[in-house]
Amino acid sequence: MKVAVFSTKAYDRQFLEAANSGHKHELVFFEPRLTRDTAVLASGFPAVCAFVNDQLDAETLKALTKQGTRLIALRSAGFNHVDLIAATELRLTVVRVPAYSPYAVAEHTIGLILTLNRKIHRAYNRVREGNFSLDGLLGFDMHSRTVGIIGTGKIGVVVAQILKGFGCQLLTYDVYHNPECEALGAKYVQLPELFAASDIITLHCPLTPETYHLIDDNALAQMKDGVMLINTSRGALVDTEAVIRALKSGKVGYLGLDVYEQESDLFFEDLSNAVIQDDVFQRLLTFPNVIITGHQAFFTDNALKKIAETTIANITDFEQGHPCRNEISAERQIVTKSAA
Ligand code: NAD
Repeated sequence: MKVAVFSTKAYDRQFLEAANSGHKHELVFFEPRLTRDTAVLASGFPAVCAFVNDQLDAETLKALTKQGTRLIALRSAGFNHVDLIAATELRLTVVRVPAYSPYAVAEHTIGLILTLNRKIHRAYNRVREGNFSLDGLLGFDMHSRTVGIIGTGKIGVVVAQILKGFGCQLLTYDVYHNPECEALGAKYVQLPELFAASDIITLHCPLTPETYHLIDDNALAQMKDGVMLINTSRGALVDTEAVIRALKSGKVGYLGLDVYEQESDLFFEDLSNAVIQDDVFQRLLTFPNVIITGHQAFFTDNALKKIAETTIANITDFEQGHPCRNEISAERQIVTKSAA
């Protein structure tokens, strides 16, 4: 099948070509993001392969359908960027990679927590400059600290398992209780209790209308002074301007982000020679107690291999007319939204 692959980086090409060797799809790689303007590149392609910051709104989907596209194969688990109602109306099939490596994201989350706590980012720079002073590098034992995990699905439960190993107390919030988490001794509580009791709060729920700006001024006001907040899920779970206010007041003592609400204008590109126009993002970078990574939590070789293999298998299922277990529909989105 002829597939237009958008937002291609060298590593996408490498893993997708390897996964395709037994399938023989015709993969054509495009570097640009899929937008209403670049959709024309997919003219005559029955399948389009897209990533997290590609634009899959009604207008773009309509343009793709008009040009002959029938399948959207997402190289991601999250599908908050796809207008599934429009896709259903246009009779477009949308498939995704529901699970690839929860370890990749969970381990990156722990990396952010430990780096912020022990200030490894600052220590790294100091030592390289011959400054061996410990002033300002004081950390805390993870043991016995209370960590609040919001969203205890595939990634949240791995985070809980690792933190259990550190001897942390685990408070969890989810619309469903995960018995694996309960078996670890995690206690499901309502959000106000989790906010009030946690030393560290980490987000692992999807972005839905219900979770948009879950962390806003009101939520932050309920947290402990100096709380550590980690978001490796989706940027818009956090109201960035509210969190900047909380950093300035000291309410948030540490912030670790792998995702950012306006990341589509920044992430995955080398902008080191450009003037970044996003003043909110630039303000975040001025705080010594903030670490931002550019949506790299998923980025392990295990995860890329699994993403590529599942994506290619999804395309083959569609081509051969087999029911695809990784298909998502508007109904599914509505269920997920109402569940949230
Ligand atoms: P999952 O579907 O296995 O788990 C999500 C959990 O969130 C589920 O248990 C669900 O019940 C819960 N949930 C849904 N609505 C909720 C709400 N309103 N409040 C609390 N919990 C709610 O998904 P996963 O594989 O664990 O992934 C979690 C998120 O991580 C994804 O949605 C995605 O946005 C993000 N992610 C980020 C990266 C990255 O590279 N940074 C990579 C993969 C996934």
